[in-house]
Amino acid sequence: MEISRSALRENLDFLRGLYGGDVLFSSVVKGNAYGHGAKVIVPLAEDCGVRHFSVFSADEALGVVDNRTAGSDVLIMGYIDDAEIAWAVEKEIGFFVFDQERLRAAGRLARRIRKPARIHLELETGLHRSGLEGEELDRVLEEITLHPDLYRVEGICTHLAGAESSANYHRIRRQIRLFEEGSDALAAKGLRPRYRHAACSAASIVYPETVLDLVRIGIAQYGFWPSEETRIHYQLDHESADSEWFEDPLRRVMRWSSRIMGVKRVPPGGFVGYGTTFLATRSLRIASVPVGYYHGFPRNLSNLGHVLVRGKRAPVTGLVNMNMMMVDVTECGAVRRGDEVVIVGRQKKAEISVQSFSALTRNVNYEVLVRIPAAIPRVLVD
Ligand SMILES: *Cc1c(COP(=O)(O)O)cnc(C)c1O
Repeated sequence: MEISRSALRENLDFLRGLYGGDVLFSSVVKGNAYGHGAKVIVPLAEDCGVRHFSVFSADEALGVVDNRTAGSDVLIMGYIDDAEIAWAVEKEIGFFVFDQERLRAAGRLARRIRKPARIHLELETGLHRSGLEGEELDRVLEEITLHPDLYRVEGICTHLAGAESSANYHRIRRQIRLFEEGSDALAAKGLRPRYRHAACSAASIVYPETVLDLVRIGIAQYGFWPSEETRIHYQLDHESADSEWFEDPLRRVMRWSSRIMGVKRVPPGGFVGYGTTFLATRSLRIASVPVGYYHGFPRNLSNLGHVLVRGKRAPVTGLVNMNMMMVDVTECGAVRRGDEVVIVGRQKKAEISVQSFSALTRNVNYEVLVRIPAAIPRVLVD
């Protein structure tokens, strides 16, 4: 996998331009930086001026701490157990608080370590996944007010329930209203944290009013629109509605390629690969490629997906195996062992997008990306 420095930089510049200089940009690098490799992405994003990262869990936070080169802040949005809370407090890593037990544990450990816990209160607004509400929220506020030395409340936040689809419009609008009311209520009690935040990539584009003091941006920084709808929404907002050409401001950061392992001729009447899913009806040239579902290439792209060879689309032929697949290169010219095979990205004038995988398999692009194993080397290119 190649990771493009200039693509990441352009995406970050574009997005930060959209939000304005007063908004803290938090680069979301959970799921091994959406499959791009946190080890590569974290220092690269820091080179581009990013100073805040959000992750799901403590082990992912450790991945950022181990690879940051500019001392950026880290925020854990999801899971953290008590032992890890001690580590987070010690390392001054922030984390979401969405229940009383976590707050209490944080307070106990902060007292022992003699450092305040940096917390972001997550409010329930309608996602119904994690989030404080009702009496539990009251008790959390009480505890915080009683022990200002133990807790540094840096943020209040929420997460929206699918801003990338207009089908969720009313639900999202209601969440935005409830979050505003919730943060007003907290302000009335004297709690006005530095950062209010709610926006992910899609929300920041479709509901710009959710861009508050901080945005948590994942998929868009890697050059992918959260959905076709989000892209069209951006286009309608920023270009004349009848322009036929869309100048995509996002550039794909990753390119995934392999090499042809071997080529053989298959006579008419021959089946290709395991079983009988593909029958050659004429003489074909079939190439083997050392990429299979072990490497995150979806098995349900068997007889359905394509790769690029010599700038031409070569259909996946037969079943995708664990470590390899066969592709039909009959129409690709004089293909030889060692030729480059592009799984995702551009080759000459052709391109295969992650989106095209998603359209064929009904996987969302997020899922296809994060399934690419960490063991595949990520190579930095310009
Ligand atoms: C993953 C995540 C984000 C980022 O979402 P994108 O759609 O990739 O921008 C933001 N906030 C939370 C809580 C998340 O889990």
